[in-house]
Amino acid sequence: MKKISVIGAGQMGNGIAHVFAQGGHEVTLIDIAQDRLDKAVATIARNLDRQVAKGALTEEVKQAALARIVTSTDMAAGVKAADLVVEAATENVDLKLKIFRDIDAYAPKGCILATNTSSISITRIAAATQRPADVIGMHFMNPVPVMKLVEVIRGYTTTDTVTTAIMDLSTAIGKVPVEVNDYAGFVSNRILMPMINEAIETLFQGVGGVAEIDTVMKLGMAHPMGPLQLADFIGLDTCLAILRVLHEGFGNPKYAPCPLLVQMVTAGKLGVKSGEGFYQYTPGSKDLVVAPAFAK
Ligand code: NAD
Repeated sequence: MKKISVIGAGQMGNGIAHVFAQGGHEVTLIDIAQDRLDKAVATIARNLDRQVAKGALTEEVKQAALARIVTSTDMAAGVKAADLVVEAATENVDLKLKIFRDIDAYAPKGCILATNTSSISITRIAAATQRPADVIGMHFMNPVPVMKLVEVIRGYTTTDTVTTAIMDLSTAIGKVPVEVNDYAGFVSNRILMPMINEAIETLFQGVGGVAEIDTVMKLGMAHPMGPLQLADFIGLDTCLAILRVLHEGFGNPKYAPCPLLVQMVTAGKLGVKSGEGFYQYTPGSKDLVVAPAFAK
């Protein structure tokens, strides 16, 4: 799998491009607008610089990794020579089905089509293509260069050969793959999102403030980050999309998104990526400041 195309250059796409390029693969990073691609490459360069500063990489390795990344806004051209495509576009089922129909039309025969979806059925995405046996979930964690886990999700039709290839590739780039089956949210978000939703509900009911809820979970449960800060980090739009997939997928009201989460996403308060969620994010500042809406 020498040539890998990554679709979507947001927070996950840039991390996925980073780890593949560092692992020696030729990467084509694809998005709908050049400015998003430029921003992604700048982020990758900054993250590689951080690894160099820590002594984890040499300047030469960093330069070689950056040189292996090219960008494109043309999906057809961007996937036509790929051995593997990893889709990491916005968490929206109609968008992903369209992207997979397009990739299927343009990518060569034998190319594996993977999705980094957090929750959407791999079997459903696979069914939108003419090669459902070659479609698989490759779910990286955020931030991709740091987090070890790759949740590898077998759809109903995914073959052993494709699963083994993706498990081996994950190991080769220094990750730890875990194979799971295809039900909404898989393992990771089936467990994580109800916890985040409950933290938001706890805030909504006034049981505790933002800092209090996160402190209870950090100091009481040894979580490295509280659930509200984690929600900001993931993106509140992504959290809402995942909860809706769980709610629809299982038909169980326990997954219904908290109205406060719906309001915040409607208001454009998406967390770190929009500058405000439960906390306020000022470029250059590392202080964790509760957002004005939740300040006491
Ligand atoms: P994001 O909003 O940061 O980035 C999404 C990118 O997709 C944007 O740059 C957007 O321009 C691009 N895009 C939209 N439509 C496109 C199209 N038609 N073609 C090409 N690019 C297109 O989102 P993200 O947080 O990077 O999430 C991406 C995927 O990864 C989602 O499926 C999400 O569920 C999943 N994921 C997210 C996290 C997380 O912590 N944020 C963790 C694991 C998986």
